[in-house]
Amino acid sequence: MNQARDKKTGEIIDAESLKHLFEDGLSEYECIDEKCRIKLLPCSFKPSNKIRPYFKSLGLENHRQTCKFSEYLKLLEKAKNRPFTEFELEDMPFPTKLKKVKLNDGNDTTFKTNIIGNEEPGKGGLRSKASGEFIEILNKSKVVASISPIVDFYIKCPYNRHMEIEIEDVKKMYMYWFKRIEKPLVTGNYKGQCIFFGRLHTNKEKIIETEETLEITLFESEDWEKSDKDKPAKQINPFIISINKALISKNKVSRIKNEIDYAIEEKIEAFKSKVVDKKKHAFIFFLGEAPTKNEPYKFKVIDGYLVARYTQIFQTKQ
Ligand SMILES: [Zn+2]
Repeated sequence: MNQARDKKTGEIIDAESLKHLFEDGLSEYECIDEKCRIKLLPCSFKPSNKIRPYFKSLGLENHRQTCKFSEYLKLLEKAKNRPFTEFELEDMPFPTKLKKVKLNDGNDTTFKTNIIGNEEPGKGGLRSKASGEFIEILNKSKVVASISPIVDFYIKCPYNRHMEIEIEDVKKMYMYWFKRIEKPLVTGNYKGQCIFFGRLHTNKEKIIETEETLEITLFESEDWEKSDKDKPAKQINPFIISINKALISKNKVSRIKNEIDYAIEEKIEAFKSKVVDKKKHAFIFFLGEAPTKNEPYKFKVIDGYLVARYTQIFQTKQ
């Protein structure tokens, strides 16, 4: 599981933040479903761990039968083969809104204050359906504070990308929020704010950190130049993802670097163990602004909203 509730504070946290919480001491965790709440153990949270942090249940303890969160995770695993039925969608806690958490100081508390719950009934992703004389509320809004669950829904649900998500006061379908950076690499293809995604290099030298910025060069570029047959081809005008470090906390910067590392390491591990699936790549996803005329190959990340996954991207199916 990639999320759990802190038993002491009641706040919902992403597993990825465990590495930072570890420094101040971990809490006790439980399933985020209000009626389930079984104990969950944090795993792989030490700085030396190369595997992405996660939560697991104790031994044979199962989630309660009514647990909607574990039911949702099980359904996600089936979602690449078929669309969800209306019935399944009724109760499903998939993300319908990204809510920013404003920071007042240098200490990033974003991860501790993830707001995921049935917020704001009557707004957001609420859907209603006339049923006889009654208006039945089918799906309460699910507000999330990180793009992680949004990206997972997009990746795992190629048949359900017509569902809507609200980001920065703009509500549109998942399939319109996500934009892959790929050929043809006409820079004008990228406009406004989107959740952009592209492939990472396995070579970590393509990630350059200075005092002011963290810049990640993507595998996607305008062209490749082969000057010497013994040398690897060189990228011409590669796309770059730029993060202004002054605008986000130190914790967020290190979390971003961890994210990239996990995806690259997962890819390297897959190659080592020879279970190579050629359709899988280390992808980086970020809420960002498209390149401008002055900097036609540079994407800017908004508020450090960035995750990475070693995965396959299925085409949107309708
Ligand atoms: Zn549960």
